[in-house]
Amino acid sequence: MSANASGLGLMQRLAEGPVICAEGYLFELERRGFLQAGAFVPIVVLENPDAVRQLHVEFARAGSDIIEAFTYYGHREKLRLIGMEEVLEPLNRQALQIAKDVADETGTLLAANICNTNIFEADDPDTHAKVRAIFDEQLAWAAEFSPDLVIAETFSFTGEAMIAVEACKALGVPMVVTMAVHAHPTSMDGVDLNETCRMLEGAGADVVGVNCIRGPDSMLPLLQGIRDAVSCPVAALPVPYRTTDAMPTFQSLRDPGCHCIPDDRPFPVALDPFTCNRYELAEFAKAAYAMGVNYLGVCCGAGPHHIRAVAEALGRRPEASRFSPDMSKHAFFGTDAAVPEGYKKRASLL
Ligand SMILES: [Zn+2]
Repeated sequence: MSANASGLGLMQRLAEGPVICAEGYLFELERRGFLQAGAFVPIVVLENPDAVRQLHVEFARAGSDIIEAFTYYGHREKLRLIGMEEVLEPLNRQALQIAKDVADETGTLLAANICNTNIFEADDPDTHAKVRAIFDEQLAWAAEFSPDLVIAETFSFTGEAMIAVEACKALGVPMVVTMAVHAHPTSMDGVDLNETCRMLEGAGADVVGVNCIRGPDSMLPLLQGIRDAVSCPVAALPVPYRTTDAMPTFQSLRDPGCHCIPDDRPFPVALDPFTCNRYELAEFAKAAYAMGVNYLGVCCGAGPHHIRAVAEALGRRPEASRFSPDMSKHAFFGTDAAVPEGYKKRASLL
């Protein structure tokens, strides 16, 4: 176990209250110029490890209880796609080492991570074996770093998530398994979301739920059904974008007010105008927690300010809360006696 501050593992923490997990490393490091949108392969882990480390630290400071090794899309299929399979092993080891160091320093839990492979086909057993091999090799490297938990995430296929559950058992630590829910709440191999979560729990997942794809407003309506379907803790990690009933996923968002977006599709790099503010993430966290969902976080698009808002909504005061907004000393809107009266009177001119 890593030297987490409370000494408690994931399941004990969940028994006592909410657990927060910051995600979204691909989007944030793409914005910062360290990896490429499209293939979305985390080569930043090898080329600019300090950038990965810095983001882990920022998320921990903002209230994340978990440091997730940045191996998302760092698997054999993705590296094959960009012709860099030779860096597969060093990339995984480096990502785990960076995350472990930060987890040890910040008293957070270290999470290993596997994800959707993008080769699974329900009716092709050959792909099932390849998927299992992809998971097995990543998990074998992860085991060397003694993670506190493993996150298997963003699965569009129930069958692929079930393979992940079997593979994750090798680590012998709690596993969080979350589905990516697209326009319809049925997996791409045709299983209802609630039934999928029941199956994952039955197969041995310790926490089940949903991550990515949907923003707070289109993810929240899914949660009660999952909560009612399973007895284990439930996870919810939306993307911080204003998805709607008509456009429930961040891939389906359209921005008719803008005429310069290639392909007319804001996903993935022109989603800025849809970004949720911190209050919206706070509202989501409170509403989900009230439903009994106690593993909470934010996925692609998340910034540390979103994580801090989630943490504060759940009653936390992480280190970064020292700088949470206080408008009382603003030059014009301030109410503090130290703000000149003449400026307060000009607030209506702004
Ligand atoms: Zn995501």
